[in-house]
Amino acid sequence: MSETEAEKELRRERATAAALEARAQTDVPLDMPLECIVTTVEQSFDLVVVIALLGKGLAGAYAKLPSLNVALIAGKDAAVRRRFTLAHELGHHYLGHGPRFDTNSSMNDEADPDESSANRFAAEFIAPQPAVERFVGELDDDSPTLELVCRLSNHFAISPLSARIRLETAGIVTDRALLGPLDAQIKDHQAKGCFERLGLEDRDDLCKLPADQLPRLPAEAHGSALADFLDGQINADELAATIGRSSEQVEEALGRSVV
Ligand SMILES: [Zn+2]
Repeated sequence: MSETEAEKELRRERATAAALEARAQTDVPLDMPLECIVTTVEQSFDLVVVIALLGKGLAGAYAKLPSLNVALIAGKDAAVRRRFTLAHELGHHYLGHGPRFDTNSSMNDEADPDESSANRFAAEFIAPQPAVERFVGELDDDSPTLELVCRLSNHFAISPLSARIRLETAGIVTDRALLGPLDAQIKDHQAKGCFERLGLEDRDDLCKLPADQLPRLPAEAHGSALADFLDGQINADELAATIGRSSEQVEEALGRSVV
């Protein structure tokens, strides 16, 4: 049975509240951005982060190995995207959704209650309402322009599109007549020039690791079935047996040919 609008709203509010509760478990104040989401997640939660060249179409995955919970993040994606995917996988972990593979399209499926909740969780975890309000409140000029979108994007190390959506969901810019032109400018790739004009550079964190330094494995994952798989020491059948999935699902998700 599909959800009613009231049920959807209640679920979104719960996901937001859970993200704020999760942020309170970290040592980063709620009104500040995360310096490195990988470090924060591994220090504060029972979840380790692997950034690797995953199978085609896969953005991330949440796996429960016998002694390890793992967030797998696609190394092919840009750093801003990797950060959001990690926050999304943390959402699945924190909200108790269980293991799953996320493609770009499945993550964006707002009709799936778990995916929609994980996205809501991710947005609030990376850019909590108090942090958005503080940042915008301290700007000399908070006019609803592309510059505001780019400054917010840079402050939280998220994509311009995520920043523009956050401005709306945080209630900073809600007028469609103002949001429409911002959407058009982002779609027209004007954010890049704006970043350059403003001298804004992306956060130098673990999500920024270049492809030649992947896979990124936490110390705890060395010696695990997953590390062995990424190192080529075990095949998909063996990994599948370990994580309770079929080898076809593992092959499809982790795309052996491109690992
Ligand atoms: Zn998901």
